[in-house]
Amino acid sequence: MLTATARRGPGQPPTVEIGDQELLGEMLRLVAEGASVEMAAGGVGWSRSGVYRMARKEKVFRQALTAAQKQGRVVRTPPPECGSESQYGKGCRCERCVLAAASARAGRRATARARTGARTARPDG
Ligand SMILES: [Zn+2]
Repeated sequence: MLTATARRGPGQPPTVEIGDQELLGEMLRLVAEGASVEMAAGGVGWSRSGVYRMARKEKVFRQALTAAQKQGRVVRTPPPECGSESQYGKGCRCERCVLAAASARAGRRATARARTGARTARPDG
């Protein structure tokens, strides 16, 4: 787990008190869920600049913040449009695209059969 604590230089109070592990964890969780550092910091009553200043001073906190930001970017990035026949046509062979292409082919065959069947079955054809 994270063990960052605020260190006070002589006569220098820390801008952000990160002794509170609960708030620290909450802020990092918000960032990891895709919130901006500003939003996450505001969510726990800190300023964005205070968080960045602390990140510069505290290596452990900096690393945790960087990891959370990386995770947050992944969360914010929409997943590639997989699961469609067109993606399969573009060369994707993931399970979802293969299934989508297979069911699309099956659907076209079924439609063709239904049309043929309907024509044959029509009494006044
Ligand atoms: Zn795919």
